Amino acid sequence: MGYLKQLDVENFKSWEGKQIIGPFMRFNCIIGTNGSGKSNLMDALGFVMGERASSLRVKHLRDLIHGAHIGRPASTSASVTMRYCDEHGGELRFSRTVSGDSSDFYINGKHVTLSIYTVELEKIGIVVKARNCLVFQGAVETIAMKNAKERTKMFERISSSVDLAEEYNTKHAALMK
Ligand code: ATP
Ligand code: MG
Repeated sequence: MGYLKQLDVENFKSWEGKQIIGPFMRFNCIIGTNGSGKSNLMDALGFVMGERASSLRVKHLRDLIHGAHIGRPASTSASVTMRYCDEHGGELRFSRTVSGDSSDFYINGKHVTLSIYTVELEKIGIVVKARNCLVFQGAVETIAMKNAKERTKMFERISSSVDLAEEYNTKHAALMK
């Protein structure tokens, strides 16, 4: 299984100019004082995985640019590149840039549409719509508050086992006869 190796950020939220975050290991723990940028790191990940502005704690995409939160954007654009190490040791680069309120997506430096980008992310197991990769601040509590049935439903959706439910239920019903 592959893993996230490094994030290259440029003028994204609290990172001014070009900065490198990583290298990451297969398991990572991010620590820091309040306001130090832990959630911004999750936002950078969410951004490069194609999340929309409202999931990234901003109203407009342009608010993601460094300094924009105080009305003084350091640049007209921001970007995040995710370097993903595949199981053979090869590297895949997923990049998203924001300029104004529009985004551009790149895979290994090649400009692609959001739908191609999404399909390629799905090939490495990242299904942003299923929200299987990121649990944002506050969401832990929401998950903990779910009852057993709701939580089961959520895990079925995340693992895609819900797609097999019909087949399973039919076979199970036949066995019970
Ligand atoms: P907590 O432990 O309280 O959850 P945190 O480590 O998750 O804190 P973040 O929310 O990631 O902290 O970071 C907040 C900081 O990011 C604030 O200081 C804010 O000024 C800064 N910030 C947010 N947006 C921008 C931006 N567009 N440009 C520059 N800095 C920004
Ligand atoms: Mg936080």
